[in-house]
Amino acid sequence: MARLITLTFMPIYQYNCGDCQKRVDVFFRSVSAAASKEAICPQCRGKSLTRVMSTFSRNRSLLQRLDNVDHVHEASRLLGNDPSAFYHWAKQQGKEWDESLGTNWEELAERTLAGEDPAERIDADYTFRYHVEEKKYQLEKEANPKAFADSEYEDPYKEYFDRPVQDTSSSSAD
Ligand SMILES: [Zn+2]
Repeated sequence: MARLITLTFMPIYQYNCGDCQKRVDVFFRSVSAAASKEAICPQCRGKSLTRVMSTFSRNRSLLQRLDNVDHVHEASRLLGNDPSAFYHWAKQQGKEWDESLGTNWEELAERTLAGEDPAERIDADYTFRYHVEEKKYQLEKEANPKAFADSEYEDPYKEYFDRPVQDTSSSSAD
């Protein structure tokens, strides 16, 4: 039997305290504790803490979430072209992704519930995949602009169009 190895990771997060107006580090015993427990200011014991996240770590955690999307699974949930399946799917995707991906799944879910049949329901899994991949590309590019600059897209027809056009109307002037 395979042995389960538990990795212990004790996260420290930065917060702004609304009570003492200080920026403080709060230590948690685990990631789940950090997610479920209310953070308390180590300076004044206040509870009005707002998590401070750098753009970098925010992007990194979004990228991780995007990487974890199982597109085959998501597509399978929409099989059968059933409006009710779409409603549940879109409602959930909307809650999870509308804000970060700029999509409107939640609105489409509500419209479906109201009896409409939005055109976006067709190929919704494909559209979802497009938005996810587009965002991943954008975040990866932002995180590592140099890598993207070095591996610039090579136009396979470039050579063809760059080829000097032979002028046959006159001979070259000497
Ligand atoms: Zn405080």
